[in-house]
Amino acid sequence: MGRGTNLPRVGDFNQRVVLDRIRRAAHGVSRVELAASTGLSLQTISNIVTRLLARGLVVEGERKAEGRGKPRTMLHLDPRGAHALGVHVDPVVVTAVLTDLDGAVLQRRTLPTPVGPDALVSAVATTTRELLDAAGIEPAGVLGLGVAAPGPIDMSAGRVIHPPLLEGWSDVPLRDALARATGLDVLLEKDVSAAMVAELWRGNRMLRGTSLFFSMGFGVAAAVAHEGELFAGTSRNAGEVGHLIVDPDGPSCDCGHRGCIGVSAAPATLVRDAVDRGLLDPGTPRVTPRELDAALTRVCRQAGAGDRSAGDVLRTSARRVARGITIVADLVDADVVVFGGPSWSRLAPFYVPVVRAELAAHATLREMHPVEVLGSAVGDDVGAVGAASLVLDDAFAPRPSGLVGATGVVQP
Ligand SMILES: [Zn+2]
Repeated sequence: MGRGTNLPRVGDFNQRVVLDRIRRAAHGVSRVELAASTGLSLQTISNIVTRLLARGLVVEGERKAEGRGKPRTMLHLDPRGAHALGVHVDPVVVTAVLTDLDGAVLQRRTLPTPVGPDALVSAVATTTRELLDAAGIEPAGVLGLGVAAPGPIDMSAGRVIHPPLLEGWSDVPLRDALARATGLDVLLEKDVSAAMVAELWRGNRMLRGTSLFFSMGFGVAAAVAHEGELFAGTSRNAGEVGHLIVDPDGPSCDCGHRGCIGVSAAPATLVRDAVDRGLLDPGTPRVTPRELDAALTRVCRQAGAGDRSAGDVLRTSARRVARGITIVADLVDADVVVFGGPSWSRLAPFYVPVVRAELAAHATLREMHPVEVLGSAVGDDVGAVGAASLVLDDAFAPRPSGLVGATGVVQP
């Protein structure tokens, strides 16, 4: 977390530092506390706070007595001060949200994922316009549009490279196409990184130490955060754990190996196992992402209703995934593992006990500290909320901006 400086020419950076501290303070923070934690003078803090109050980004709250001094006025983020749009592109469903400055969802829409990038761009443009109309907010009143898509992503060019299971997608300049179609500033990010940022902004805002987010969907991807900041890596693509081998006798993967963590949790693997065990009819449609997703839902329902064989399908996958999670948790010395993603709410009842038991029994660092296992505090929309959170983060966090305008120009 950056400390401020009293040099006048970096006033804008200081403003971001102060706003960041206010948004991270769950119960508000006083001017005196801000001065102490940023290293800025009380006069500088007062000037910045006056500007933030005038812009409607911050509100004054209750007065709190501390020690013998006079009561201090607590400062809070004003949720109505700004808005952001977020879209999550998944092989089955596109989720779009409009959030306030605090990351709370004001409007939400989902639609079946259109086939091909052109259809997707025009559907996103229509949907985001509908969200703004429903909330009565002008496009000028939003900070930008965040887009969470399957990685890896060429961040500097704003291109989605080869997303698995998205038909007709290869090296798509999604960021600029969406900026042109919507007229909004667009920020493109890997879906799992966006989800981690949503947990930090909105869900588990108090996540400290080192935390992991595992996204369970058509693949498995991870994100790492340390002290409340995403660890993004050299090309902002950190977290590609999909080919971590967790069972040398496990299912075959397209990479040529067996038992990679991604294929071990893939809906296609679970559905095939269910067909082999006679739980699903061999004629069950299971070609498109939507068909696979529906078949997975049936297996989870059977397991939830107490079918032992269906439960075994899920627990076998959970044991393999748990092995990989234990390795990654040891690698980064994590004390919290958060799960989410499109399949998570269905898998959670079967995965959570297995992952907890594996970490408790086999994590090398279990002697040093426990590893907590949580479900996403944001829920099924974590990718879309994360995309919107990235826009908020980019606008207000004290670090260089990566937001690209509708003109395709990187803004200072
Ligand atoms: Zn593999």
